[in-house]
Amino acid sequence: MPELPEVETTVRGIKSIESSVIERIDVFNPNLRWPISNDLSFFLDNKKILSVYRRAKYIIIKCSNAHLVIHLGMTGKLVFAKPKDTLKKHDHMQIKFANSDQVIRYNDPRRFGSAHLVKNKLEDFRLLSNLGIEPLAEEFDGNFLFTKARNRNVPIKAFIMNHHIVVGVGNIYASEALFLSGVRPSIPARRVTRKKMEVLVKNIKYVLSIAIEKGGSTISDFMNTKGEQGYFQIDHQVYNREGQPCNQCGAKIKKIIIGQRSSFFCSSCQC
Ligand SMILES: [Zn+2]
Repeated sequence: MPELPEVETTVRGIKSIESSVIERIDVFNPNLRWPISNDLSFFLDNKKILSVYRRAKYIIIKCSNAHLVIHLGMTGKLVFAKPKDTLKKHDHMQIKFANSDQVIRYNDPRRFGSAHLVKNKLEDFRLLSNLGIEPLAEEFDGNFLFTKARNRNVPIKAFIMNHHIVVGVGNIYASEALFLSGVRPSIPARRVTRKKMEVLVKNIKYVLSIAIEKGGSTISDFMNTKGEQGYFQIDHQVYNREGQPCNQCGAKIKKIIIGQRSSFFCSSCQC
């Protein structure tokens, strides 16, 4: 499943469409997680793209009159192709640009992704309006997390994965950041000290940045229709390593379930 780093890499990969004019949008199959609105083309054809950016795991294409908001779901991807290239199975939407021999196609075998036309204020759009802070934003710091965690009894891992608090910290990134910080995933959020929260925030930013960096180095493969686009992974210290020795102390990595998600940790390095 595309996580924040893959979405960020996709956004960087399609940045070159900024300032382009959309010649036309074709929807081949509107039946994604939510049906693609049938007035997409009416509103966006012949409109200029002002900017492309990411909010949480949403790709925002800001046009002169509206926003196109895309979520990749479980298996979605945006790829560059030539207009004459034959459509692939699961290509559901295509954006063609004026005076360009490139198109972008949205491919999604499982169709859990979505594409939304937002004509009103983006901040009020229902899928974005309740989202927490961006993990790579400067304002996301130890103090922010410590303050938010007051009186919160939920396990720290569930807390940092709560997208009303901070967005984009998926299961793998949460597990790895907690390991690097020496914080056990199961302890109540309110019991994590301010100092530990500072370390934890640093490590959340670190694991996400490493994954984005990795994505950056494979960006042409990532955006190219010719190769199969794989999702990249960081080297796991604990994630999916139950029973294997901890790379730091040799103790066996343990697995517990927190908030219905598998959580991996070292009981000697994380307390
Ligand atoms: Zn250990």
